[in-house]
Amino acid sequence: MNTMITRTITILAVVCMATLAFAQAKKPAAFYCKYCGHKASSVASLTASACFRHPNGPHKGRHALYEGSEKESYTCKYCGHKASSISSLTSSACIRHPNGPHKGKHAPAL
Ligand SMILES: [Zn+2]
Ligand SMILES: [Zn+2]
Repeated sequence: MNTMITRTITILAVVCMATLAFAQAKKPAAFYCKYCGHKASSVASLTASACFRHPNGPHKGRHALYEGSEKESYTCKYCGHKASSISSLTSSACIRHPNGPHKGKHAPAL
């Protein structure tokens, strides 16, 4: 009887671990645009659509991959301005933008 219980517990543990591993494998990866913070599940789908904050002008180019890791806060590489998301960071003009003060948006450091 005890053996049966032990076996059941072992099977349950294995099923549990397999479910966890499966859930982690299935967790969709997130890719962000460095110009606007747009989120996509693959680089292909990210770069397939036009970016409304593209440096060449709204919808003048496609989203570009942000190659840094996901962070709790993002820092502008030109001026040090901080924001909790790429989309909020890139929503405002940067005082130290290389094109001139307020001539472009903040850009997230990697
Ligand atoms: Zn974009
Ligand atoms: Zn900035």
